[in-house]
Amino acid sequence: MRILVIEDDINLNRQLADALKEAGYVVDVAFDGEEGHFLGDTEPYDAIILDIGLPEMDGITVLEKWRASGKGTPVLMLTARDRWSDKVAGIDAGADDYVAKPFHVEEILARIRALIRRAAGHSSSEITCGPVRVDTKSSKATVNGKPLKLTSHEYRLLAYLMHHKGEVVSRTELVEHMYDQDFDRDSNTIEVFVGRLRKKMGVDLIETVRGLGYRMQAPTNAN
Ligand code: CA
Repeated sequence: MRILVIEDDINLNRQLADALKEAGYVVDVAFDGEEGHFLGDTEPYDAIILDIGLPEMDGITVLEKWRASGKGTPVLMLTARDRWSDKVAGIDAGADDYVAKPFHVEEILARIRALIRRAAGHSSSEITCGPVRVDTKSSKATVNGKPLKLTSHEYRLLAYLMHHKGEVVSRTELVEHMYDQDFDRDSNTIEVFVGRLRKKMGVDLIETVRGLGYRMQAPTNAN
């Protein structure tokens, strides 16, 4: 899962990015509205944290532009004060949620988890597919109740496939959601990670759809 943080306060931006990375997300950052708007427009994010007061272009304008061009990425707005007018403006512009500063980073993490799973159509923080279960709150996975030891890349891959279970996900899409913009991307590595994941899970739930990508699906007689 890949998140964009747009916040001009350097310390706050770093604090958010660090907490998100710690929680297993891939994070890109922007420090003004123009850069943020450009990234959100051109890169596929699973959620965006958008400050309302930004240099170059304010957060409301950034969001309005995305929504006007049909971008539906979940957006969590940060409002500088607990001002009702900021919240109303943010929600009217198409924000999915907001948090007023100052905030606890844990609250941001919880709201981001909720936004991502709602966008993927899941109502609980635990997603299951046959014997496999992913707890997006603790970033842990189990197979038949037994914990899976996964690297951060393997977890990201599994979490993405689980959020989109039943759908065919292309390698390009996986690469885009597993690495930040500076990473030297190579979609062949995805095949390697899928191989490792299959081996560790010991159950074959990740189907290769020739020429298209992968699909995570429970056996038809289960789940
Ligand atoms: Ca600001």
